[in-house]
Amino acid sequence: MDDEMRMLLFGPPGSGKGTQAAVLATELAVPAISTGDMLREAVAAGTPLGQRVESIMLGGQLVDDATMADVVRGRLQAADAGEGFVLDGYPRTLPQARELDDILEEGDCELDHVVVLEVPEEELVERTLRRGRADDSAEVVRHRLREYRNKTEPLIGYYRERHLLRAVDGHQPVAAVTADVLAAVGRGA
Ligand code: AMP
Repeated sequence: MDDEMRMLLFGPPGSGKGTQAAVLATELAVPAISTGDMLREAVAAGTPLGQRVESIMLGGQLVDDATMADVVRGRLQAADAGEGFVLDGYPRTLPQARELDDILEEGDCELDHVVVLEVPEEELVERTLRRGRADDSAEVVRHRLREYRNKTEPLIGYYRERHLLRAVDGHQPVAAVTADVLAAVGRGA
């Protein structure tokens, strides 16, 4: 169906991904799925998953791929994700990208767009520190940025080769970024 929309939102920590995922999901009438939010909820609820990942998250490290595969597979198989989703925070490694391909293939569907929000480095650190979450101390922020550069940025090439990549200037007011993303995925005004 033409209204279906399976979108990944990429960008370094502090690029405004979470905010955009929520707004875009509303605009596109699909759920926003944030693996960071799902893990934070598990930590807050004290589930076995939450207990396992809490210290990893506080250190700004990545949770292992096998754990993340379980989290994402279960969520993408839920009924509300049947016609699409805006996925924020997954995949973050090449094995995760391959896992996502498998999950989607099992459901007989595929990605439509991979959007990367581009924001200058100085702005990222400042924005993240201003947000003030538990895992947002200066040292942890720098570690998360390193993880992004080393492990997640290589995925941009993976998706560019498949002609799925759309780069958007994330250094603009929220509404302008949203408008540019919608235009980039063919849903502009
Ligand atoms: P986020 O809100 O997307 O920045 O995620 C917060 C934290 O959750 C990250 O710093 C990681 O510790 C963990 N996390 C979220 N998504 C993933 C993922 N796809 N792979 C590994 N760790 C993740």
